[in-house]
Amino acid sequence: MKMEQFLSLPKGLEVTSIEKTEDGLAISAVSTQRTACCPLCSSAATRVHSHYTRHVADLPCAGQQVRLLLHVRKFFCEVTTCARKIFVERMMAFVEPWARVTTRLYQSVQAIGLATGGMLGARLTDRLGIQTCWMTILRRIMALPTEPVEPVVELGIDDFSFRRGRKFGSILVDMQSHKVIDLLPDRKAETAKAWMQAHPEIDLVSRDRGGDYAAGAREGAPQATQVADRFHLYKNLVEAVALILARCRAEIRKNAQSAVQEELQEEAPEPLLLECAEVISVENWKPAPELCDERARLSRRAQRYDRYQQVLALNAQGLGFTEISRRVGLSRRTIERWIKEGDFPEAKRRRKRWSVFDPYAEYVLSRWEEGCTNGLQLWQEIQAQGYQGSAQTVYRFLRTLRKKRRIIWKPEVPHAPLQDFSANDAVWLFARDLADLDEKEQETLTTICQASQTASMTYQLVQEFRHMLHHREGDKLDDWLAQVTKSQIRELQSFVLGVERDKAAVVAGLTLPQNNGLVEGKVNKLKLIKRMMYGRAGFPLLRQRVLHAL
Ligand SMILES: [Zn+2]
Repeated sequence: MKMEQFLSLPKGLEVTSIEKTEDGLAISAVSTQRTACCPLCSSAATRVHSHYTRHVADLPCAGQQVRLLLHVRKFFCEVTTCARKIFVERMMAFVEPWARVTTRLYQSVQAIGLATGGMLGARLTDRLGIQTCWMTILRRIMALPTEPVEPVVELGIDDFSFRRGRKFGSILVDMQSHKVIDLLPDRKAETAKAWMQAHPEIDLVSRDRGGDYAAGAREGAPQATQVADRFHLYKNLVEAVALILARCRAEIRKNAQSAVQEELQEEAPEPLLLECAEVISVENWKPAPELCDERARLSRRAQRYDRYQQVLALNAQGLGFTEISRRVGLSRRTIERWIKEGDFPEAKRRRKRWSVFDPYAEYVLSRWEEGCTNGLQLWQEIQAQGYQGSAQTVYRFLRTLRKKRRIIWKPEVPHAPLQDFSANDAVWLFARDLADLDEKEQETLTTICQASQTASMTYQLVQEFRHMLHHREGDKLDDWLAQVTKSQIRELQSFVLGVERDKAAVVAGLTLPQNNGLVEGKVNKLKLIKRMMYGRAGFPLLRQRVLHAL
């Protein structure tokens, strides 16, 4: 392969040498064209006047800077009528006259600039072996000619912020070609109006719900149909719903909790907690029950508790004591007592049995309170006083004390759903299609709607609106508005007022296929570019980058 082909040099250039220099490669080339065309009269010239060398930077090669030494010639123009007597031969597509870089390097820097911006571009070019600086990169970007705007029939307009929420511009998109056609430095009605007046071919304006673009379009393009954007419409509705849910939080939380408590009461409560709260005195100090005894006791208690629930249920159904007694298998007196007490009657604990430990109990308890909790030591101490029983017995008595220390726990609060309810999270359960929610989300949604009638009503309204919006059923809007008015949910009333004010455009938005989602997408790309520019770029540079990059 010839070196010229390898380097993609244009025809008529021949590489004569390649040298490694301190800062890269120096490639010498000579022009081998027999003739050159006079730039003025375009006739071919052959008589050489002189030689000289042009230094031109080219694309890097394997990460090394490349400097081309082009040995070019000056020719005589022999056309007598031509004003130009001497001219330098040119390589038009490859390098512009007077240029110090090749056209392909120039374009690469421009492309890097458009993609990354000035500072970032300078870092990248440095890495790639291209010698330039951020100022040059910016100049290259600004040098790009702005293409004239072609006739636009369907215009999408939306705003974007230069600095978060403080200064805004407008982005204009051709809804048919999906191209960004212009950026405006603000979002004022007059600016939009002036732009639209210069484009009388516009017959549809898709816009957000801001009044400025509506006013701009009304005056700038009165011939056009205005379409309120569905996305913004739905966004406004969702914002109203978030407010409703925030207002109903207490109601939702409370009802969700009491629903759980009702459910819990039907199940057996945690039985251990009740007995632990006893205060231990020498008289009623009992050894800790063996684990298996304790389990058996709990099983019995569970049965007793279930019977108690059964008795209550039958009583609520209006059965008499005798009948209940027959059905449950308990004495009539027991049933009478249970119902009168109105609270679950814990079984009486068995009376304490006498133990060999009893005469030493007071001593051990006082030692325990002094801080001696070592079972072995206590056993040895009472053995010295004449205790005859086993160490095991001592341990079982002590275990009660150890357990008692742990009693300080409060009964666990049952975990109720929605205790961490957040309107901003919940609103997405309302806004999305039910089929898109997973099982857990559906469950949460159901709980919310059961807990609050307002929430439930809101859910119906939002879903109907969503359906209308998805299926382009603008004709159903009036019915929907009437329903909302009837619901008297105040946050939705203000949404309705806003819709009424802009009704023609809203109906168009709910009916026509055009949609500002496209413009939103462009705004997102614009934001990306803006962020990469570290917020330093002025409007002209941003406009240049967006128009040439999107
Ligand atoms: Zn000439």
